[in-house]
Amino acid sequence: TVAARTVGLTKAYGDGEARVTALDDVSVELQQGEFTAIMGPSGSGKSTLMHCLAALDTPTSGEVYLGDEALGRLGDKRLTQLRRDRIGFVFQAFNLVPTLTAQENILLPLSIAGRKPDAAWFDEVIDTVGLRPRLGHRPSELSGGQQQRVACARALVSRPEVIFADEPTGNLDSTSGEEILRFLRHSVESLGQTIVMVTHDPVAAGFTDRVVFLADGRVIDEMRDPTAERVL
Ligand code: ADP
Ligand code: ADP
Repeated sequence: TVAARTVGLTKAYGDGEARVTALDDVSVELQQGEFTAIMGPSGSGKSTLMHCLAALDTPTSGEVYLGDEALGRLGDKRLTQLRRDRIGFVFQAFNLVPTLTAQENILLPLSIAGRKPDAAWFDEVIDTVGLRPRLGHRPSELSGGQQQRVACARALVSRPEVIFADEPTGNLDSTSGEEILRFLRHSVESLGQTIVMVTHDPVAAGFTDRVVFLADGRVIDEMRDPTAERVL
């Protein structure tokens, strides 16, 4: 099944002379349980594609679907709910609340949504990220890799249909980065999570199932079962 897709997605910023076409007629499908990397030079449209897929930005033309729901038909209130309930985000900057413990950070999106965590699922996520001994620590007491694992757990705990990760290893040394990638891989394999990751790093791309290459706002290539060597 298709977790999300774009059909003829075009996004332009500005008007007249200043008009920039960030995405030009992009159609991509994300299969459920698939780990996709989006790669391409700076300015090729990676962030714009991810923002449109995640309902953070609206297309100039074309359509974005989450499951079989066309986002263009939803009002602002429904879109806010959809981002909150059906999508997870992991950023380069971990974006944790410094005054909250790891556990409180992980549960924050559910608390905001007024939802109760499923205890068995919470345990599974915590064991998958290996954070049990750190649950009572605040972000300042955790390493960068541990903070990013908290951010990943926070994204996973509400069982989103898709997790969007924007350069999740960008602020990490290579050892911590690979730890996060192994964890994301594991959540795809054992939890069936669908993940889309923007990355510049061939090593990171090697952990995915598929790489979509962008240039000048278009999909120029795709690679299945990538390895770091083939992406380089
Ligand atoms: P990437 O993530 O691959 O670096 P982006 O999606 O950020 O690419 O940007 C694609 C193009 O759109 C670039 O030319 C960028 O300058 C332009 N762009 C992105 N966001 C905006 C914006 N908010 N306003 C104007 N131009 C933008
Ligand atoms: P990246 O390439 O890592 O996505 P950028 O520095 O290109 O980072 O973009 C950071 C943010 O600034 C993005 O949210 C993008 O939408 C916005 N942006 C990028 N280019 C422009 C631009 N020319 N004008 C206004 N905003 C832009």
